[in-house]
Amino acid sequence: MAHPYFTPCPNCHGTNIHIAEWFTDSGETEYYGACDDCGFEDDAHSATEGEAIDHWRHFVSPADAEDEGSF
Ligand SMILES: [Zn+2]
Repeated sequence: MAHPYFTPCPNCHGTNIHIAEWFTDSGETEYYGACDDCGFEDDAHSATEGEAIDHWRHFVSPADAEDEGSF
């Protein structure tokens, strides 16, 4: 499986991002991005890993990053 590209963590600018799984009470699986460096988590859960990755990449927009030069 190819390693997906993640934008850096908006909290610590770390790059050790992974997609975590969340199991709902109704038995469904949801996915969200999470930072291994500081524990920051995307507050939006997605139905698939792909959507979670896409959300993370849009969620961490360059405009919100303090270090815009690195993007
Ligand atoms: Zn972080």
